[in-house]
Parts: sequence; structure tokens; C-alpha cells
Amino acid sequence: MYSVHYPLAVDNANRQLLEAERRVLNVTPAGGLRIGVGYPNTYSVGMSSLAFQWAVELASSCDDVGVERFFADPAIAIGRTLETGSALGDLDVLAWSCSFELDAVNVLTTLDAAGIPRLRGQRNHRHPLLILGGAVASINPLPLAPVIDVFVLGSAELLWAPLLTLVRENPDRGRLLLELANRDGYFVPAHHLGADHRPNGKRRRIEKREAHMADPAMLPASHVITPHTEYRSRGLVEMSRGCPEKCKYCWVSYNYGRLRCYPSEAILEKVERIAQITDRVGFVATAVGDHPELAEILEECRHRDLEVALSSLRIPAMREEILRPLAESGARSVTIAPETGTDQLRRRLNKPITNAAILEAADTALRCGIDSLKMYFIIGLPGETDEDVTGIVDLLRQVQEMMVGRGRERGRVGTLHAGFNVLVPKPYTPYARQSMLTRKEARRRLQIVLDGLAGVGNLRIDRPAYRESIWQAYLSRGDCSAYAALDMAASGCSLGELLTSHRREIEASALNTVDGNPVWQFVTSAPVKKTEPKAPPEMQAKHVKG
Ligand code: SF4
Repeated sequence: MYSVHYPLAVDNANRQLLEAERRVLNVTPAGGLRIGVGYPNTYSVGMSSLAFQWAVELASSCDDVGVERFFADPAIAIGRTLETGSALGDLDVLAWSCSFELDAVNVLTTLDAAGIPRLRGQRNHRHPLLILGGAVASINPLPLAPVIDVFVLGSAELLWAPLLTLVRENPDRGRLLLELANRDGYFVPAHHLGADHRPNGKRRRIEKREAHMADPAMLPASHVITPHTEYRSRGLVEMSRGCPEKCKYCWVSYNYGRLRCYPSEAILEKVERIAQITDRVGFVATAVGDHPELAEILEECRHRDLEVALSSLRIPAMREEILRPLAESGARSVTIAPETGTDQLRRRLNKPITNAAILEAADTALRCGIDSLKMYFIIGLPGETDEDVTGIVDLLRQVQEMMVGRGRERGRVGTLHAGFNVLVPKPYTPYARQSMLTRKEARRRLQIVLDGLAGVGNLRIDRPAYRESIWQAYLSRGDCSAYAALDMAASGCSLGELLTSHRREIEASALNTVDGNPVWQFVTSAPVKKTEPKAPPEMQAKHVKG
């Protein structure tokens, strides 16, 4: 475990956060090239993101690079780094890991706080190079294209560390951007947008192949734990990439490709590393329950007295050999996503799981010692009828009755948590061109659910935030002109004012089906092949420090 000494100039709030951290990696701010890795939200949200922690670790594995973190957190100085309190404008590179469209606004507010001009055209080579990676870059980078110099399209392991090498080798900013523009995996607006601000060709995403997954240096895991996150001192390890399913609304499955799992030995090596600083471990992936050796991994964690949690499980993975060791390792709740209430609609959205299978899965979980369940639903799936919505009520009532029955037997009744979202059509999915529900219709359908569940005990319902959803839909399918709305939002305009002032564009984009060739559809996913891994030299040359 590493301890870190901070400059006296660091604010008290920063110092308290830093002192609460435990680390297995010595990430130093000192280096020839100064990199800021940022998360466009609070410290707590950012440090809960494994992708963000991984971007920090990968950057620190490069030679002669000093790495610091920054956040858009009002509790600590925005526009300065966490570790040394340096002004962001004094760094060479600022790179955000951005997972949610709504956080794009915080990229702009961070630049404002740092005194860095928002627009690319108003900056020069003396300003830091601005990079953005993560899901937002691949879903649709266009609303942020007037701001960001380089978007990273795909796996950080294959693109982020090589990018830093190129930055070191090309001190001339113009030459660097040209070099990146000629490579797959990067979207460089200065080169890839035409005079009409539309992409002038296709760009390719680069994803890890199966053979890359066998390399332990390519396996993301937490290197810092802190009590100040959503997971409270839990270290995270990625289990797999991709998913065996292709649910029609799911951007992840259409972009990350088919399921590829990390070897269990490599996963357990990372668990061992995390166990130096915490006894709480979380396994994350889009299909965490589909790892063929998950039962053995959980058993091993139980032997080591580690408390384990899993991100959401696919319903077919809710099997006794997974759930029992999970419950014995201290997990009290599991999350599943039935999405809708009838078998017919589930089949149509390419998730051929029956209500009977969901009830059986819930019963297995409760039998194995899990108390509480979280179930997620989407309102407004194409073809949804009132019968499908009523089916959600019936399903939740049955699960709740089951939970109360099992709970009474052991003298402890858990909570059923039902989370609702409104469908936000995502680029590159079969639903990409669909329209969103109007607010009025979303409200009507949700009311069917609320009326049907009135008076049901031990049930917590999270209602969808419609305004955030339509704003997200606009940013997901917007072109460069969507920057104008982001600009206003970052200048203090409330979401309500924004939805009024930009109502025509936002509704035209979100509430209509899309015809023709949409401007945002310019990133192609390279097929995920099994063979010929070619890890970048940065990753081949050395194992990531730790
Ligand atoms: S099972 Fe989950 S991750 Fe897989 S395609 Fe469906 S929604 Fe996406």
C-alpha cells in the first residue's frame, strides 16, 4: 500500500479526500508530460467509475508522465487538480472519461473554471490538448465536437496509452492531430468535420479482441478505494466485455460485441491486489453472471473472507451455484432487468425471457439468502401496449408477495426496488431511429403502474426523470448544433429553461422517428475477432505497475 505526501497548498477538502484513500499503485503527479484525467461529475461519482480509475492507471503506466485527477465537484476546487491543486491550464493534456451524455455540460463548466476557452477555435497550442473517451465519445461525439480536440473511440487499453506516446513524440500540435486523424479509433474534429460541420467520412471504433482479454495487463481493476463513493470502499474488477444477448435498445451489446471473458486466474490476481486495501470486492460487467467460472471465483472470495457484490445479473444467470456463494459472501441484494411486463413484448425486443423464468429466478435468489431485489423497467418500448404496462404491475406484485412469504419464514423481509426509465433511443441500436414517448404519454403509462401498485408494502419505486431523458435523447442524436444548448446549460440556464428555449429542436429530434442517413451515424464498429491480438507497445513492454 502506498502513502502519498501532498503539497501544503492543497485545500483542506482535497486533503481530506486524499487522506481517506488507500492505494495499491503509486500514481505520481511528477513527469515530463503533465496529464489531468478528469471525470465530469463529483469526486464520489467519478471514483465509483472503474473506467475512470482505469484511465488513470493506464496513463501512469506510460514513461515520464505525471498524472493527476480532476472533477466537476463543487465541494473541491473545480478547474484545479485534486493532488496538487494545479490550475488545469498549466497541464499538457486534459482527458475526460465520460459515461453519461448529461455530464457533457460539466466538461464546459470545468473549462470555464480553469479559464480555458470552451471552443477549439479559440484555443491554441499553449492550451492543454483536450481529449474525451468513454461511452459518450462513441455514442455521439458531435455535440461536443466544437470543444474537444480528440475523441477516443473504443478500448482505452488500445487507444489511450498509444495516444500519450504520440503526444510525447509530436510536440507540434498540428502534426499530432494529423497523425491521430490518420489512425483508426480517434475522431479528430479539426480533420474529420467538413465546412458544414458534418463528418466527412466514417470513423472506426477499436475494441479489445478475445486474445487481448488473456493479457492480465488489460484487465481493469480499482487501484484506489475510498469510503467516499457509491460503493463505499469496495474495489471493482471487470469480469468480461460484451454480452451474449442483443436487446434492441442496448447500445452496449451492439458496440462491445459478443461476450469475451477474462481468465479467472487474472481476475483473482486483481482480487488479491485489491485485498491489500479492502475486504470488499465488486465484480462488474454487462454480463457478469455469464462468466463460466463465476461460481469458482465467488467461492474463492468466500474462502478469503471477502464481501462480494455483483453488478446486475442477466436473468438466466440467477442460478443457485452463483447466488448461494454470493449471499454467503455478504450480498443482500441483486439487480435484474426484466424491462417490461409481458413475454410477448420481451420477445419483440429480443430478450426472450418469460415472466415464469423471472419469478423462478427471484425465488432462487430469496431461497439462497438474498433479501432484496432491484428490478429495472423501460416505459415506451416500441409496440408497448397498456397490457404490457399492466404486466409490470402483475410481475412486481408477484415478486413482492414471494419476498414477503420468504422473508416471514426467516423473520426478515427485504425491499423490492422497482426502477423505471423512459426509452431513450440510442445510436447504433435497432431502436436508434425510434421516437421517444411524449411527456404526457409517459406520465399516463407510469400512472397505470403507480395505481396498480398503490398500497403494496416493502416496495420502493424510482420514477423516470422525463426532462433528463428527453435532454439525453437530444444529445444522443444531435449534431454539432446541439452544442448551442450545451453552451447555454453550462452558462447557468436551467434544464426547464433550456427545454423551453430549444423546444422545437429538442422535440423534433427526440419525439420523431429518424429517416434517411442520420448525421450521427458515422462510427463503425470493427468486428470483434478472436485472433491476432496486437497490444500497443506501451502495454506489451511492461505490465502496468502495481
Ligand atoms: S442482457 Fe443487458 S447488456 Fe446484454 S444486450 Fe440485454 S440489456 Fe444489453
